[in-house]
Amino acid sequence: MKIIVKGLSDERFLRPLGAITNLFFEDSETTFDTSINGDITVEIGYSVEDKLIKAYAKIEDGDNVFEEGIEKEVLSYSNLKELFTQEKRAVSHVFVSVLQKQTGVIQQWGFLTGVRPTKLLHKMLLNGDSKDTAHEKLREQYLISSEKIELMQRIVDRQLTMIPDLYELKNEVSIYIGIPFCPTKCAYCTFPAYAINGKQGSVDSFLGGLHYEIREIGSWLKDNGINITTVYYGGGTPTSISAEEMDMLYEEMVQSFPNVEKIREITVEAGRPDTITPEKLDVLNKWNIDRISINPQSYIQETLKAIGRHHTVEETIEKFHLARSMGMNNINMDLIIGLPGEGVEEFDYTLSETKKLMPESLTVHTLSFKRASEMTKNKQKYKVADRDEITQMMNHATSWTEEHGYVPYYLYRMKNILGNLENVGYSLPGQESIYNIMIMEEQQSIIGLGCGAASKFVDPSSGKITQFANPKEPKAYNENYIHYTNEKIKILNELFSSKITH
Ligand code: SF4
Repeated sequence: MKIIVKGLSDERFLRPLGAITNLFFEDSETTFDTSINGDITVEIGYSVEDKLIKAYAKIEDGDNVFEEGIEKEVLSYSNLKELFTQEKRAVSHVFVSVLQKQTGVIQQWGFLTGVRPTKLLHKMLLNGDSKDTAHEKLREQYLISSEKIELMQRIVDRQLTMIPDLYELKNEVSIYIGIPFCPTKCAYCTFPAYAINGKQGSVDSFLGGLHYEIREIGSWLKDNGINITTVYYGGGTPTSISAEEMDMLYEEMVQSFPNVEKIREITVEAGRPDTITPEKLDVLNKWNIDRISINPQSYIQETLKAIGRHHTVEETIEKFHLARSMGMNNINMDLIIGLPGEGVEEFDYTLSETKKLMPESLTVHTLSFKRASEMTKNKQKYKVADRDEITQMMNHATSWTEEHGYVPYYLYRMKNILGNLENVGYSLPGQESIYNIMIMEEQQSIIGLGCGAASKFVDPSSGKITQFANPKEPKAYNENYIHYTNEKIKILNELFSSKITH
């Protein structure tokens, strides 16, 4: 689908308008080149005069003409970049509105294309806006629907109930530990995950590097009096290593990290049920791991086979019961909407199976065709439900969780997500994952250790974010982990220097 935009030449508009077009059409392309033939031509104009921004958009589609125009007061600005942000909003506003009229598709998130809507609401409230004012701004400035604003507010309220000191946690850090191995690679996966028996560098050498990182970062945190809020083991599948290896790793963590008794939550993803054994559960218990994740994704066996998860539905259920019987009392389960071959009927079945287990938390993802995955490369082979059916499944997830006592506590949106929906984390009240809230709301630094682990450093004074990524391939990690550890310590020294000197 090619969209020609007539009337604009400033290249800075191209990206935001392209992002909006993607909300309406799959595989779309937006261009200012009027010399080529497009599927839709949108005429756009705007002007700034007398403290007013005026913008309009028009689509002529055969005999039908769709038009949209707005006038907005110019808010105070201190440089031209800030003024341009206002112009961009006005143009995006008319562009999304005219496409809504032409296609009949209403964008619940308006033209907000960012992935963290709740962070925006937190920011407004932190800046002193009342809830009403903040909601009005979200409606006015981004055209977000009342339904989504209400969802955002519920989530923000839940987060602040769970973590009343959320805004003060910037002087602590959380830790992400990436274990890049899985029993086999799933078709939709873009995570750093390598078949554990594959040729990508040995598990032994990888763990050697990881132990080193844990020791060094732990020692820096101890020396500088910085506590840890949460620890999260992800990957890959952290339980794909042996019980002995897990035992030694957690021992290293407990010895190296400062004030371990003050860590509010330690999660280990045990995503693939085929990696869970009684011995490993014993190790998790021994080191007081609070929370694990066992991920069915779907309870339809054919789907699991189609996406390359080499385990059975029964195995998921059996391992869930095993974990429960061995004292695991905070279990998360991930479900995915829109897996190949699945529609409302299959998803409803998955929900009915979930009811039999009632995990403490449930994360409902919407399948996104991420660029690198096997599924994106073979879109023809993997037939997925259309936008309306995806929306229907999402609605079923919303009402099912509500009926069963779950509350939404975090959400994020993804690019290329089917139907422009969102991923929502639900939990039984009081069982929300603190790490998930920290990663979504970006109120503190998260230090990534291990393979493919991305660190996100949040400056405690300005809130400015610096990203830093460890290598994805085990081989590159094994060869360079000392360098990556030193680089992180350098960033930490800069960020926390004022805290360190007094
Ligand atoms: S279990 Fe998770 S990390 Fe491993 S291959 Fe599958 S989707 Fe990727």
